[in-house]
Amino acid sequence: MIPCAPVQWRQPAPEPPRQAPAPAPAAAPGYAARLKPSRAGWITLPQWCVWVEPGSDDRWDRRWREAVEAALGEWADHIELQRVSAAEDAHLRLWRRRPPLRDGRASNGRAYLRLQQVKRQGISSPRLEPQVEVLLSPGLRRQVLQSTALHELGHGFGLWGHSDDSRDVMAASQGASPPLELSERDQRTLQWLLKQPSAVPAARPEQASEQTEAPAPAPPSARTAD
Ligand SMILES: [Zn+2]
Repeated sequence: MIPCAPVQWRQPAPEPPRQAPAPAPAAAPGYAARLKPSRAGWITLPQWCVWVEPGSDDRWDRRWREAVEAALGEWADHIELQRVSAAEDAHLRLWRRRPPLRDGRASNGRAYLRLQQVKRQGISSPRLEPQVEVLLSPGLRRQVLQSTALHELGHGFGLWGHSDDSRDVMAASQGASPPLELSERDQRTLQWLLKQPSAVPAARPEQASEQTEAPAPAPPSARTAD
């Protein structure tokens, strides 16, 4: 498997079926029952290729990077991550910018998901991949910055929903002292998610069919969460 091989082209994925996939059963571990699958299904990968927007050496950029690195370090204990230096090759891209207002409301971070048909070097067939954009505001105090990065990365890695317990990194709203580590509930929820069939099958370099030209574009399927 060469999951972070250079991308040769990307196209919006075809629209998924109209019928929404089933959510988790009420008895699922942690807060899994509060998660919502995308219209194509659960979005998980055996390995995520991650790109972080480089910044200058000033103290604000450095502080942002340190918080992001700490959050990625925490996720790396639970998810297989590979850093890439080219934004184009990433499944998930982390940008140092404030999310635009939505319904007149500001937020510290936001994650966007699109599904794309992606052709990578050395993998003969194009396949469905997530492309996640995470926007993380630079103007936050350190703990909030790190906690927001943890939360938005959680959406990016497939936890599309919110916990009702402020001790979880995926809590809908942060308490006075936001968590900097995945709680036991976060971990149980993630473990459940990772066992579900993924809408984006892993790369298989041995696939025989060769397709070098991009297929006709189709409307994207998208979702967003703060
Ligand atoms: Zn959220």
